[in-house]
Amino acid sequence: MKVVVDPNKCLGCGVCEGDAPDVFELSGDVAVVKMDPVPDKYKSDVETAIADCPEEAIAIVG
Ligand code: SF4
Repeated sequence: MKVVVDPNKCLGCGVCEGDAPDVFELSGDVAVVKMDPVPDKYKSDVETAIADCPEEAIAIVG
């Protein structure tokens, strides 16, 4: 799956990195996705991060 973070929405709070540290990391003031594609084994963690992100900045696309 492809996972994206909208840098215009992201506040850099780090919640997604806490939920899915293998998938997200902070780069400066925004979160970035560390891999493309993201293996399906991380889908549950990504969905948790999507639910927890205060800015709704994370999406699964495609
Ligand atoms: S949880 Fe959302 S706002 Fe916070 S760092 Fe991750 S993408 Fe950005």
